[in-house]
Amino acid sequence: MKKSVKFLAVCLAAAAMLSMSACNGGGASSGAASDSSNSGVGTSTLDAIKKNGFITMSTNAEFEPFEYKDGEKIVGIDLEISQKIADKLGVELKVNDVAFDSLIPEITSGKADFVAAGMTADDERRKNVDFSDSYFDAGQAVIVKKDGDIKAPKDLNGKKVGVQTGTTGDKYCTNEEGTSEIKVGSVERYNKGMDAVSDLIAGRIDAVVIDDFPAQKFVEKNSDKIAKLNDMLTSEQYAIAVKKGNTELVDLINETLKEMKDSGDLQKIFDKYLAQES
Ligand code: GLN
Repeated sequence: MKKSVKFLAVCLAAAAMLSMSACNGGGASSGAASDSSNSGVGTSTLDAIKKNGFITMSTNAEFEPFEYKDGEKIVGIDLEISQKIADKLGVELKVNDVAFDSLIPEITSGKADFVAAGMTADDERRKNVDFSDSYFDAGQAVIVKKDGDIKAPKDLNGKKVGVQTGTTGDKYCTNEEGTSEIKVGSVERYNKGMDAVSDLIAGRIDAVVIDDFPAQKFVEKNSDKIAKLNDMLTSEQYAIAVKKGNTELVDLINETLKEMKDSGDLQKIFDKYLAQES
């Protein structure tokens, strides 16, 4: 009896040592992988995100009031929503700031768990990513010179129009499928909406087509020179993008959005950032 207990104890100790070394080996290599590659990011289950202690969101911080820089810090409506998502998981929020047309690749390559970037949920993007429920109704607005001859969207026909590369405004103006009502003359692409606005003010282009609220912010800052037309070109909805098939994460994001809508928190965030609406 005594002997068999001792034997069992030896067996258990050996098993423990074996599994410890297995764990150490495995732990060390997966730890190294998660530092240097995308392991644990993008393809993570929620458990893996919790274990890592952070969730990664990618955005393009050139889109006030949704995401923009306040000094070195990236702030805005999408940042506040993203923070709530991280809080719900009890993890830190990490933010990648990349060009707008790199955002979908951030997800497909696993560099980011989700994208919150005032991104319109459209069918073309749905081929590559899944979207959450929508959280904002938007549309493409037209910014023009205050004293210019463009008074309505139809006056854009034949004109030189600036857009932000890869956005729905770019798609509308480029009009590859020929479905847009307005046929602009030529499209100038910019990485930053602000650069398009500067070229408009300098007279190098005739108009800028960009989402309504960023348009409003640009106009507020240059109200002596530029104006926004009342009519919008499109009607769109913003949603948060995740890797295709990541239902666990999209469900958690939808739950977070619903809680924020039901509590009135989401509206408070919009009111805070859009307060200066004209
Ligand atoms: N809503 C537009 C789009 O999804 C523009 C977004 C942006 O520039 N951040 O294409």
